[in-house]
This record gives sequence, structure tokens and C-alpha cells, in this order.
Amino acid sequence: MKTYPIPMIPGPVSVPADVLAAYQTDFGSGDLEPEFLELYNRTEANLQAILGTRNSVAIQTGEGMLALWSALKSCIRPGERVLALATGVFGYGIGDMARSIGAEVRTLGLPYDETFHDWDAVEEAIAAFKPKMITVVHCETPSGTLNPLAELGALKRTHHVPLLYIDSVAALGGVPLETDAWGIDLLLGGSQKALSVPPGMSFVAISPAAWEIIAEVSYVGYDALLPFRTAQQDFYFPYTPYWHGMAALNAGAERILAEGLEACFARHERAAQRCRAGIIELGLELFPALGAVPSPTVTAVKVPEAIDWTELDARFRKAGLAVGGSYGPLAGKVFRLGHMGTQADVALVERALAVIAGAI
Ligand SMILES: *Cc1c(COP(=O)(O)O)cnc(C)c1O
Repeated sequence: MKTYPIPMIPGPVSVPADVLAAYQTDFGSGDLEPEFLELYNRTEANLQAILGTRNSVAIQTGEGMLALWSALKSCIRPGERVLALATGVFGYGIGDMARSIGAEVRTLGLPYDETFHDWDAVEEAIAAFKPKMITVVHCETPSGTLNPLAELGALKRTHHVPLLYIDSVAALGGVPLETDAWGIDLLLGGSQKALSVPPGMSFVAISPAAWEIIAEVSYVGYDALLPFRTAQQDFYFPYTPYWHGMAALNAGAERILAEGLEACFARHERAAQRCRAGIIELGLELFPALGAVPSPTVTAVKVPEAIDWTELDARFRKAGLAVGGSYGPLAGKVFRLGHMGTQADVALVERALAVIAGAI
């Protein structure tokens, strides 16, 4: 089925009419028309407000993974040290990605149902390994968890770690984010999660210190960030801009700002709380461990022992509910309700819970 009456996939999320409408213009060439540059600048300003940053934002054509790769390849040369803090599929995966480009990687990992809380252990790892970059995933989507970031920023500053790299693809827009206050040098985002825009756009908010390193590394490639340092000033982009995608991304960002950041975060929190309470009322078990921070954007639930995941998923879909399974070691054992962006809606969560009640 192409569309479901109860969409609860944790990205791509259901796209609202005003974002879809943003595509409906026969745009000219983004390389030539000053209106495109104005749109890029406006989109950057709107993203800065959502991300809590004054850093410039490189907005690229491509899905969320592009941001993850481009920030690694633009900053890290073979042999340089990356400390990967991992609590799930993406956290461990980023460590593997860094290793694949030749970095010397140390992974400080926790089980997939936990979030970071023992900052002494993190500090020891930083002091002993002296990484050039620390990588962390904000919302670990396959686990439904949210890693706290403020403490990490303080450690990064104390130990003069040059780069703090945060994958906030599945959190930003749904939870408070203080990129500058938390010392984040590379804040990675994508369009298809809480911004409620189709997949196709990604972005990296880049600190002045990170720009210096990017210039020094001078990585060349389709996914290179360096050309974005001067793209606006020179009105010269490294490839033909995707004007339609930029218009949609901006529409998604403007929706959040029109609602108000506080109101938007509160809506996510309400949907998440109702979702977790409803799951427990049904006698099901949440995946995150006791004491771990559950994400306001996605809830991960253990598949009940008595039912096979494929069968459960089929029952959900037959009743109009689309949820996500999970990945890696959690595949078949965990399913996930994405209440991010347009889907952070208590009424939608209630409908999903009613279908789940019937299916189990
Ligand atoms: C969605 C997501 C991405 C982008 O990757 P996909 O190809 O959409 O899975 C990156 N990081 C996280 C944590 C995500 O949830």
C-alpha cells in the first residue's frame, strides 16, 4: 500500500499539504536565479532557529545518510582518531563508517536499550584516547532512545576535543536542541523525520572551528562540505541545486517555527507520553531499559513472545496501521511507533493503540 490511514513509521513521516504544495512550482535554475539564493538563506536561518545555532548550515541534496558521510569524510583523514559513543544501530554504525575511511576508531558502547549517563567513563575514554572527533547519535531511532548531550559538550570543551559530531536526524525539530550551548561542531540533520518533508534533503550545521578543519583536510568529492563554505557568498554551488527540495525543506522548517518551538516540543512530549502509557496499559513492554531516556519522537516496543513479528505487522497493516520494525540485532524483536513531526499527535497515537489492542 502506498499510504496508510494511521501512519506511524519513524521516518519518512506523513507529509502535510503545505509541504507538498511547496513542490508545485516550475522552478527555474537554482544556479542562476537570485530567488534560489534568497530561499537558501531563508532556509538556513529557519534551520538555525530550530537547531539553536548561529553556525552556518550546509544544505545538501541527498538523504540523511549523506550528512553522516559528508561530515566524516570532510573532517577525518586516515589515521586520525574518532571516539564513537554508541548506544544503538546508528551509533555503532558511525564508528564502522569512520573505520571504513581509515580512521583509528575507539568505540565506547552501551547495550542498545541504554542511554549515556556515566560521564566519568566517557571522560576517561576522552582523556586516554585523545580523539580528534567524538561522534554521538542524539535519538537512536531503532531503540527509541535519546542521548543527553549537554554534559558531553562540557567534556569536549574541558579536554579540547576539536570536533563534536552529533547525528540528530531523528530528534531535531521534536526535542530541544542547543547546538551552540552544547558545543556541537557538526550537527547533522535530514528532511524526512520531525521536519515532515520527504527524504531528499540533508544538512550540517558547522562551527567556525570545524570549518577550519574542513579547509585543512580539503576533502574532494560529491559529498564534500568545503564548497558550501563560500557557496552563498559567491552564489556558486558545487552542483545544480534542488530548488523543489529546498522549498519543501523550508516549508517544513517554517511550519515548526509558526507553531512555536516550545509548543512543538510539548506536542511531541504529549504524544510520546500517551504512547508509552498506552503500550504499558496493553500489557506490552517498552524496549528502553529502566533509567534510559526514551525519545519524544519514537517509541520502541518489544514484540510479544507469543506472536511472530511478520504476522503482527501484517495484522497492523490490514487494520490500516503502518509502524516500523527495527534493525540489526533488534530486527524482528522490536517494533516502533514514530510520533515525530505531523505524527506527533495524541489522537493518531490513540488510533494506533486501538489497532495494536485488536492485533494482539
Ligand atoms: C533516519 C536516520 C538517519 C538517516 O538514515 P536513513 O537512511 O533514513 O535510515 C540517520 N540517523 C538516524 C539516527 C536516523 O534515524
